[in-house]
Amino acid sequence: MTEIRPGIHQLKIPIPDNPLEYTNTYLVRGDGECLIIDPGMNNDAAFDALQRQLTEAGVAFEDVTQIVATHSHGDHYGLCGRVKQLSRAKIRLHQRERELIQSMQTNAEERWQQSEQWLRLNGVPSRELSKIQKDSHGMPGFTTPTLPDIMLQGDETITVGSFSLRVIWTPGHSPGHICLYDSAQKILFAGDHVLPVITPNISLQSRTNTNPLSDFLNSLNLVKQLDVTLVLPAHEHVFHDLPTRVEEIIEHHEKRNSEIIDAIKTRPQTAYQIATKITWMPTLGGTTFKKLAPRDKRMAVLETLSHLESMKIDGRVDKSPRDDTIYYRRT
Ligand SMILES: [Zn+2]
Ligand SMILES: [Zn+2]
Repeated sequence: MTEIRPGIHQLKIPIPDNPLEYTNTYLVRGDGECLIIDPGMNNDAAFDALQRQLTEAGVAFEDVTQIVATHSHGDHYGLCGRVKQLSRAKIRLHQRERELIQSMQTNAEERWQQSEQWLRLNGVPSRELSKIQKDSHGMPGFTTPTLPDIMLQGDETITVGSFSLRVIWTPGHSPGHICLYDSAQKILFAGDHVLPVITPNISLQSRTNTNPLSDFLNSLNLVKQLDVTLVLPAHEHVFHDLPTRVEEIIEHHEKRNSEIIDAIKTRPQTAYQIATKITWMPTLGGTTFKKLAPRDKRMAVLETLSHLESMKIDGRVDKSPRDDTIYYRRT
């Protein structure tokens, strides 16, 4: 637990079996108000870590007056339900994330089958597909079924003591991802939108998904305009130079586009085939598709698809379905 600024504590909540290791949970306090941002994953180790670090900061669960999650991923939203039960604080989440949680709860099996079909359509071979599906199953289970109490749209202001946090809707990594911005103190709570070392996963989840990569790039340009001197991300470490980091991430995605174009230089390929030719996690030293865990292979294919779809809209690539499989080629 670290006091970043008077009234802002950063708590480290563990994420098992994940190179990120921790979610950075933030505690913002003032005038009897106490806000928790992204309480972390729903398991006992995370809960114990949260409780211990709250105590260190002199806060009991009953003191918590507001809960906000930047998005619905398990490592952020997971513990919202348990914290709400103990504190009776209301949970705030963007409307689009609520829809995601709801559809996961009501159509879990159907969504699961659709996602399998989607991967198959994009060239994932059967032997790989069963491993990927097996490894990914249970992922939504990390999230408690609690639905949020207050739906955000973007542009609301959340007040905690002297902090005035504006909700900035930043779709891309997740459709209802939000950042919180305090313009007086020039602080941005960035969630997973802008991280100092890695780039967040941008996935094209299904045929009905639109253009998450373009949404993400627009959201990056949106936060780049803000006057910020301190970025508080949900993973890794705090940093200061937001515009430079935004530029680096945009450049990373441009490089990946070039890698993809290179991969389809000679003949049409499926998203799966293209994903096997890309260097993954370049900022962590780089790895091949083959070495990724099955769960990460899924992310890699969906991320490749987000690039392909965005370049299709730009007119740089074209789709050609053949024998129930989608191939991409250069225009
Ligand atoms: Zn996330
Ligand atoms: Zn995260």
